[in-house]
Amino acid sequence: MANLLEGKGLAEKIRQEVTQAVAGLKTAGIVPKLVAVQVGENAASAVYLKSQKNNCAKAGIEYQLRTLPADISLDGLLAEIETLNTDQTVSGIIVQMPLPSHLDSRLVQAQIAPEKDVEGVNPANLGLLVLAKPRFVPCTAAGVMELLATTGVNLYGKEVVVVGHSEIVGKPLALLFLAQFATVSVCHIATSQRGSLPDYVRRAEVLVVAVGKAGLIKGEWIKEEAIVVDVGINRVGDRIVGDVEFEEAEKRAEWITPVPGGVGPLTVAILLKNVVTAAENQRQSR
Ligand code: NAD
Repeated sequence: MANLLEGKGLAEKIRQEVTQAVAGLKTAGIVPKLVAVQVGENAASAVYLKSQKNNCAKAGIEYQLRTLPADISLDGLLAEIETLNTDQTVSGIIVQMPLPSHLDSRLVQAQIAPEKDVEGVNPANLGLLVLAKPRFVPCTAAGVMELLATTGVNLYGKEVVVVGHSEIVGKPLALLFLAQFATVSVCHIATSQRGSLPDYVRRAEVLVVAVGKAGLIKGEWIKEEAIVVDVGINRVGDRIVGDVEFEEAEKRAEWITPVPGGVGPLTVAILLKNVVTAAENQRQSR
């Protein structure tokens, strides 16, 4: 039976470190501040926004939500971001996704000053990831790596399979694994369509799944003694489940994340950590 790879304890530890660092910055006259930009209303991001606000308050980070009209023009939104870029009281900026369809999210993300881009979505920060010199790493991907590190696994030469190739989870993870010399396969919808997904999963010594489809990964595909990290969040009836068939996978894996309670708690904790790093970097460059 697998050990549970839970995120709560690690997230709490990160939050405590952040709280201490914030207190230190405050004694030096700096109050870290995160500004979240939301365009229009979006029920899906409401939970994340609430969690950002509460977690910032607990850590002593100032938090501001800027809600802009759903019909704002691209130029209008870029100008709003530029104002935050040049505001010395703002340490970190996040723009809630998804944006209304008339706004090009790539252009918007590119407008965030790289040194304030605490979600690591600006092309300059993604580029640093390619060079294995990261500044800000997308929070969930960073959380997965920190959680894996707690198992003591040495990723050098390991067979790692990432299922899902989004820009916030799958792709950055592939780069982070490569930086540790793991042998990485990235699977996605076309891998499933071709029928090859079971073959890849079967050889994974470390498996990370970020798709958003309950039961996509069959428990019987899991390699004995694998480490399984399930990033997926799916509502099934009144339960939240991941993408991996947990009960069967748990019998084979050495480590497995529960859903909820695995990667989830780490995303916001890493966001707070990035805000503190941004505030510290900006202080040094002043
Ligand atoms: P996404 O929704 O942008 O993309 C989904 C990915 O899954 C794509 O790469 C797609 O090709 C792949 N895919 C779709 N169907 C597939 C199939 N049948 N077989 C193989 N691959 C398939 O991805 P995302 O934004 O990274 O989100 C993925 C999941 O992770 C969602 O459930 C989301 O809620 C969850 N998530 C959790 C956290 C967290 O825990 N804090 C953070 C981000 C995302």
